[in-house]
Amino acid sequence: PPSSAQPLPSLLRYTDHDLMANAHIHNQPPNPHATCPICMLSWYRPIPSTTNMTSQSSATATRSTFLPLTPCGHWLHYRCLIQQTTHQPAKTTCPTCHTPLYAHEGITVLTLTTRTRLAPPGLTDPNLHTDLSTIDAIVSHHFFHQLNLPSPFADRSPQLVHVYHRVMNDLAARRLPQSVWLGFSTEVGYLLFGVFVGVRMERWLGEGHGGIVGTEGWCGFEVGRAWLRVRVLGAVHG
Ligand SMILES: [Zn+2]
Ligand SMILES: [Zn+2]
Repeated sequence: PPSSAQPLPSLLRYTDHDLMANAHIHNQPPNPHATCPICMLSWYRPIPSTTNMTSQSSATATRSTFLPLTPCGHWLHYRCLIQQTTHQPAKTTCPTCHTPLYAHEGITVLTLTTRTRLAPPGLTDPNLHTDLSTIDAIVSHHFFHQLNLPSPFADRSPQLVHVYHRVMNDLAARRLPQSVWLGFSTEVGYLLFGVFVGVRMERWLGEGHGGIVGTEGWCGFEVGRAWLRVRVLGAVHG
């Protein structure tokens, strides 16, 4: 158990807020010959392509920011840290001194691998497929239920914001998600899961019920999703 009463930050808050607090000294290690404890390369050397998402035949290499971790101050490549958390989810500690750094959450790991264009994890957890099909089924159920309710809009389109909230409540009542790769334990993680469900619902509607795109109910849904993204930023940087 962690000795400190302060809960560990989400991975996204850790990378985007905590590690950025000293951005002015990034790429300026006190030891100019420092090596990264994960890839073992000199910090200024590009990371070989085998660690990138691009195929191994690609000759490209990527330079990565070299930065000190908080709170322990040990230096490593930002990209190597994200790579490690993607492929060794249980490893959430400094590779040098083993200080716990952040709370592991599959959903925040996936967010960062997408952003950094690193190879995504194997996604072998069978619970992931169960979660995805359950989310779609719940979206479908609440969407068709909403069609039978009075619409508040002039164009009589369904109130999709209510559908979304019922879906989120239903998922929580069923203690979903169960999968490692959608799971969360922090506020940022919960908000990112909400963003994920919103994307999933948008795709489900667009593919099967395209006539709803652009309706008043749809526009309200889009406004709600934009507001949710603002809340994610607030939880990361606030
Ligand atoms: Zn490295
Ligand atoms: Zn350390």
